[in-house]
Amino acid sequence: MKLVEDLRTIVGATHVLTDGDLSAWELDWRRRWHGKALAVVRPGSTAEVAAVVRLCGAAGTSIVPQGGNTGLVGGGVPDASGRQVLLSLGRMQRVRALDRANLTLTVEAGCVLQAAQQAAADAGLLLPLSLASEGSCTVGGNLATNAGGTQVLRWGNARELCLGLEVVTAAGEVWDGLSGLRKDNTGYDLRDLFIGSEGTLGVISAATLKLAPQPAAVMTALAACSSLEACVKLLDLARARLGAGLTGFEVMGRFALDLVARHFPQLPRPLPGAPWTVLLEASDLEGEQQARERFEALLARALDAGIVADAAVAESLAQSRALWQLRESIPLAQAEEGLNIKHDISLPVSAIPEYVRRTDAALQTRWPGVQLVNFGHLGDGNLHYNVQAPAGSDAKRFLVEQEHAVNTLVFDALVPYGGSYSAEHGIGTLKRDELAARKSPVALSMMRAVKAALDPRGLLNPGRVL
Ligand code: FAD
Ligand code: ZN
Repeated sequence: MKLVEDLRTIVGATHVLTDGDLSAWELDWRRRWHGKALAVVRPGSTAEVAAVVRLCGAAGTSIVPQGGNTGLVGGGVPDASGRQVLLSLGRMQRVRALDRANLTLTVEAGCVLQAAQQAAADAGLLLPLSLASEGSCTVGGNLATNAGGTQVLRWGNARELCLGLEVVTAAGEVWDGLSGLRKDNTGYDLRDLFIGSEGTLGVISAATLKLAPQPAAVMTALAACSSLEACVKLLDLARARLGAGLTGFEVMGRFALDLVARHFPQLPRPLPGAPWTVLLEASDLEGEQQARERFEALLARALDAGIVADAAVAESLAQSRALWQLRESIPLAQAEEGLNIKHDISLPVSAIPEYVRRTDAALQTRWPGVQLVNFGHLGDGNLHYNVQAPAGSDAKRFLVEQEHAVNTLVFDALVPYGGSYSAEHGIGTLKRDELAARKSPVALSMMRAVKAALDPRGLLNPGRVL
């Protein structure tokens, strides 16, 4: 085929894949969407990305950009038509620059998040973006989805960490917006349009990210709470006592940790049986000693006040890693357990206990025995409020038959609180109809106008988001 031949000329024959097992690119992480690409194209430079986009444009062929393929909403895999080009940024991994005085790091879009973190750490600096998929997800994907993760409480989402972007437009032009400026009010913010656009407005080819000084000490603890109300009180206390030093506040329901125990029995579980377990992290620019004293004083106060029933402070880096591993193993344990209905909701923190109480009860009434895998970034008001089929029933059947009804119940219940049905993972394919149904007509028409202006022929990731 002429297009495939021309693509080979641009990126090299070995970087255009059409045969064999392409599931690494065509099948998503959750194994829910399995598409078929016309070709998987793996450019090695921004100029090659631009040439690929121009060529596909001339042929009227649509493009699905992809980074690490860890997205959870079916946004980064091709559809089943066999007519879309899967544009993988995976070969573009270079660290282009690290500016110590400016505290910035410029990397190519395919740089794996962990490698970008390491580049910062090698210079004694911190890239404060962290998610459980960091060993595979890419900086380009993180920005395309405006990823959150476990340090949003202190550092914000990927958007807050991005100062500049290089983007290949739908017309195949290169926009060099790789500024490392913290202040720049020269017209509309194009950068922020591309962040969170899930590959539908342009292809991100490189980014300049904000760094921070490495903390001198990091403290990690688990705390057992009897209710979500108590978790919210603990958050309040931790904020008051630690201020900007509070860098992580994750909550894990008992059933979520039971799943981890079932599938990863080798992991230690320090506070078994607690209805809710909070993972707290504090980072301190001063020394280890002060950090530990402040942290332990906070936990002692919480124990005294009856907010926390028990607590376990990590005594070493290895112990701290083990606590984080518990939290990060929840999605993996869920994947082992089988299909479930995933939600990624956000609410004002103050509304979370009431929302969860009411929604749990409504779900139980409608689907008796349903199991709630509830965990997430409580400090950001963001829960992964996942619904698993009743024990002993067919998980796949439950998903196929009940997903829409479960979603409607869970999402409708957010409305009185002004919550969001997609806090982190985006819209992709999975929530496109929800977006169409739930956004106001004014918002939808502005979104469509932006899409029409930047990608008038609808060649970039069609059918996603809008
Ligand atoms: P992909 O999956 O490849 O793509 C995601 C979307 O971005 C697609 O729409 C794709 O078309 C687009 N895209 C990718 N690269 C580009 C580019 N260069 N230019 C334009 N568009 C592009 N997410 C969170 O926010 N917080 C979490 O805590 C979190 N935890 C996770 C834990 C696990 C175990 C897993 C599997 C996923 C988790 N995720 C989380 C979701 C996922 O890791 C993030 O969405 C991540 O940012 C996706 O990066 P990626 O490189 O894998 O992107
Ligand atoms: Zn998350």
